[in-house]
Amino acid sequence: MSTGPLAGRVALVTGASRGIGRAIAARLAADGADVAVVARSVEALAASRAEIEAAGRRCFPLALDVADGAAVTEAVKRLVAEAGRLDIVVNNAGVTRDGLLMRMSDEDWDAVMAIDLKGVFLVCRAAARALAKSPAGRIVNISSIVGMIGNAGQSNYAAAKAGLFGFTRSLAKELAGRKVTANVICPGFIETDMTAVLPEAMKQQSLGQIPLGRFGAGADIAALTAFLCSDAAGYVTGTVIPVDGGLAIGGFGG
Ligand code: NAP
Repeated sequence: MSTGPLAGRVALVTGASRGIGRAIAARLAADGADVAVVARSVEALAASRAEIEAAGRRCFPLALDVADGAAVTEAVKRLVAEAGRLDIVVNNAGVTRDGLLMRMSDEDWDAVMAIDLKGVFLVCRAAARALAKSPAGRIVNISSIVGMIGNAGQSNYAAAKAGLFGFTRSLAKELAGRKVTANVICPGFIETDMTAVLPEAMKQQSLGQIPLGRFGAGADIAALTAFLCSDAAGYVTGTVIPVDGGLAIGGFGG
């Protein structure tokens, strides 16, 4: 018998093999939800699965590419058949293919759009019917502060992440009648594999622009996700919320 604010709910978290998605999956399980975790291979999901099962919850590992519409539709259909319901979708899978505009290839533009924007559409479309049947359907889309303020060398990523604002607000209106909420979280600089590859000088420069004086952790994003998925957030929809230590409001006036 599960306890916690999400007891009895079934959640799906994409990009849950590591980083922010893994932290979100673990937190939703700790709050009582059974969790389906998505990454491109089942092997990559082993650690996430172990965390969810250690919390006493059921885990459904799903190996798929979120940019593959047929695979997404099929996987969500199988999940709903097996789990019996779907209440929460967290679209977290994302990639970067950075480059300055004049050197950006079509492939780098298209890859980021396919995963970071179209992938979210594909998962939401596949899940919408099941979410509408939930008494408290929840969509949380993980964007980025870069979608709000832009970033040199990330025009593809910024465009995809900003695209999630309009997409999510449209879903919030479209699905409100079915009591499904849809919100966006914009992480700032979070310590994961995605940011580990950045040069040390760039990290230190970013740190100087964060009023709270530290990089974020996956748990910081998971905490707001858990709130948005809870009954306490039943009146919150169509919002875009930064979790960035104050990065978007700028540094110390220098
Ligand atoms: P990460 O450590 O690079 O993890 C990315 C996750 O996405 C992995 O689980 C990866 O799984 C999965 N993934 C990538 N492409 C996929 C695909 N085509 N289909 C299915 N799964 C796929 O990234 P992160 O830093 O945790 O970032 C998570 C999200 O937060 C992303 O949307 C990112 O844009 C956003 N974000 C991150 C930061 C930050 O500072 N880290 C800041 C703002 C926003 P496999 O590789 O195992 O398939």
